[in-house]
Amino acid sequence: LMRLYGPLTSLSNVHVDVMTALVSFDRVFEVLDLKPMVAERPGARPVPGGPVRIEFDDVAFRYPAADEVSLASLEAVARPDTGPGQEVLTGVTFTAEPGQLVALVGPSGAGKTTITSLATRLYDVTGGEVRVNGLPVRDATMASLRDTVGVVTQDAHLFHDTIGANLRYARPAASDEEIWEALRAAQIADMIEGLPEGLDTVVGDRGYRLSGGEKQRLALARLLLKAPRVVVLDEATAHLDSESEAAVQRALKTALAGRTSLVIAHRLSTIREADQILVVAGGRIAEQGRHEALLARGGLYAELYRTQFEHQPDSPARALYDPQS
Ligand code: ADP
Ligand code: MG
Repeated sequence: LMRLYGPLTSLSNVHVDVMTALVSFDRVFEVLDLKPMVAERPGARPVPGGPVRIEFDDVAFRYPAADEVSLASLEAVARPDTGPGQEVLTGVTFTAEPGQLVALVGPSGAGKTTITSLATRLYDVTGGEVRVNGLPVRDATMASLRDTVGVVTQDAHLFHDTIGANLRYARPAASDEEIWEALRAAQIADMIEGLPEGLDTVVGDRGYRLSGGEKQRLALARLLLKAPRVVVLDEATAHLDSESEAAVQRALKTALAGRTSLVIAHRLSTIREADQILVVAGGRIAEQGRHEALLARGGLYAELYRTQFEHQPDSPARALYDPQS
């Protein structure tokens, strides 16, 4: 392992900044329009239209090795718990049918976030295939993948800019009326109307400080404005108070309605409603099915349920909380 740190320690001052920047790399990816680690193939085609089916077909994945010169490899070196070249996913097979809500649950480090990254082709699989409406994501244009899939994670990234501008990153041509409509659906319109400068309020580190719940609802408003056919969501509830939790729940329902969704689920209510639950453990899908069936099976899901949410109240604290994802 020390060998891997070698090239970086010689640049140790730069090192810290690079690592800090990388922590949130995949989070800002979608918003900033950064190039992923993969290149578009010559002859790439747009994702076929209509409601979206996502297929994972015997997918294997290993993060790029440290001697491959890319941002991905720097990130791998920063995470000593996985050696480069080690398989992170094996034999992952499932189909998210058009409009289905697929919940991913499982212990921290199991591979849930990695699975969602492959659906948006942040990385290329090392085995098997991921298809979106029958088209291998490897053969899809980057622009069409980005238009098709909207991603929301728990640390919604906001720019030091006005609320209106932050929302227009999703759809530059959006009218104020469309913006208010999205804000209402995301249960955050009242709060913004109450601000002296409304949509022109500057937010971010040096601007108006939004709570975790407010940020998450703004991210959901941005998603609704974008209106993607697929939603990838890490619904972590770690920093929500119970008032904003209820509002976020309502916003989520709107954001997911009718869309094919992959949700790293932390709320029991989402898990119960999912059309399919994937129980991910050790880079494999250990169990797959709906809540009642999995519970009745008395396996890993039943154990997760018993240890993580059965005895807790139905509030953020009750969620299947995974601090890492
Ligand atoms: P989960 O979301 O279920 O907590 P992840 O998909 O984040 O799990 O991680 C699965 C495994 O892959 C873990 O062992 C983790 O350390 C490793 N891993 C995650 N991201 C990277 C990365 N960028 N580079 C190298 N290894 C990674
Ligand atoms: Mg994760």
